[in-house]
Amino acid sequence: MGSEKKIPYKIYLDETEIPQYWYNVRADMKNKPAPLLNPGTLQPMTAEELSGVFCEELVAQELDNENAFIEIPKEIRNFYKMYRPSPLVRAYCLEEKLGTPAKIYYKFEGNNTSGSHKLNSAIAQAYYAKKQGLKGVTTETGAGQWGTALSMACAYLELDCKVYMVKVSYEQKPFRREVMRVYGASVTPSPSETTQIGKKILAEHPGTTGSLGCAISEAVEVAVSNPGYRYVLGSVLNQVLLHQSVIGLETKAALDKYGVVPDIIIGCAGGGSNLGGLIAPFMGEKLRGEKDYRIIAVEPASCPSFTRGKFAYDFADTGMVCPLAKMYTLGSDFIPSANHAGGLRYHGMSPVLSQLYDDGLMEAVSVKQTDVFEAAELFARVEGILPAPESSHAIRVAIDEALKCKETGEEKTIVFGLTGTGYFDMVAYEKFHEHQMEDYIPTDEELAKYAAKLPKVE
Ligand SMILES: *Cc1c(COP(=O)(O)O)cnc(C)c1O
Repeated sequence: MGSEKKIPYKIYLDETEIPQYWYNVRADMKNKPAPLLNPGTLQPMTAEELSGVFCEELVAQELDNENAFIEIPKEIRNFYKMYRPSPLVRAYCLEEKLGTPAKIYYKFEGNNTSGSHKLNSAIAQAYYAKKQGLKGVTTETGAGQWGTALSMACAYLELDCKVYMVKVSYEQKPFRREVMRVYGASVTPSPSETTQIGKKILAEHPGTTGSLGCAISEAVEVAVSNPGYRYVLGSVLNQVLLHQSVIGLETKAALDKYGVVPDIIIGCAGGGSNLGGLIAPFMGEKLRGEKDYRIIAVEPASCPSFTRGKFAYDFADTGMVCPLAKMYTLGSDFIPSANHAGGLRYHGMSPVLSQLYDDGLMEAVSVKQTDVFEAAELFARVEGILPAPESSHAIRVAIDEALKCKETGEEKTIVFGLTGTGYFDMVAYEKFHEHQMEDYIPTDEELAKYAAKLPKVE
């Protein structure tokens, strides 16, 4: 590694303005994210242990805290060309509607069939699996965006794709499931009878509608028990944030071209991958002491990992088969209230973002879901795009910050990540229109109950 040439800091774009390197923010972090731990021994996971679950090249990326730039293989850039560079749009109509002196920009990642930023990492993960000669990959999907993105990537590379879909989404979003099948994936509602852990969960909780943590356990079990298969994950992991850095690199390259310097950068946070990607090069400048930005993570009040969680080692999944990650977490048993419709329902948060947040390098706010859908509709009506509920968390806070500027008269520049479109979320929009949407916020007692079950790690 030491012999690798040091690449100077700048954004390298190819002839189609797509980044040639991913940027690895960990290289510039003084306090590195804590390592993943083996759940049995509580020792840091070695590359060898990790390679039983993940592809080798991805394991190397997961553990690489040193190299700032990692080359994006040509084959992946060719795929990116189908939908990248994604648009960076000045929201003139929204500014006018709000009557704010603030300048608002959004980076729109919904411009592909999967409808979200998840395709940026799906193609990378599928590519390395193919390169390793594997037969296929397994994964979980909640709302369905990740499963769809992975299905597209696997179809392109002719890899088998097995998706475990949280049962409630499987039933509520039959069209998502069908899109995945168009791309050749097999989709199983989770928990299922096809795995040991699924059977166990069904026996303990008959009638459960499933959770992400549970679907992860099933997908991992299938990957490790079938030769030629590995597990892939659409968020949280260091490698996923690395791949998503294309969002931030393109954003920064476009802003630099026009001499625009943002004051505030806002993104929604579920597992942290889009936000981690969007802020990566800006955070790099902040870490190197070159510039300063306000960076804000937005999460649902009903699943408030950053704002009310603990910074501790926790299980990534319900079945406790995955490595332990040190992150802001609500506890691996935590499941948001049934009326929560806005996505971003994972109990934990990316270890990279967790460390940056703990070091005071970024802020976090939580918002109520009715306020989120109100912002979504305001945005749709003036900017035309029908946003995903997840993305609308960022819209909410971008609007709030722009309204503050209206009061103070400050002409701040706000950039936010518009991660996707909401065409498959019409049940959630319907609830909002029918006034059936409630703002459930967990009590301190409830959260304490889950936090008490965090594993004990020194
Ligand atoms: C998955 C998803 C998110 C949340 O995931 P992160 O890893 O936090 O980015 C946000 N928006 C959309 C549209 C998604 O599909």
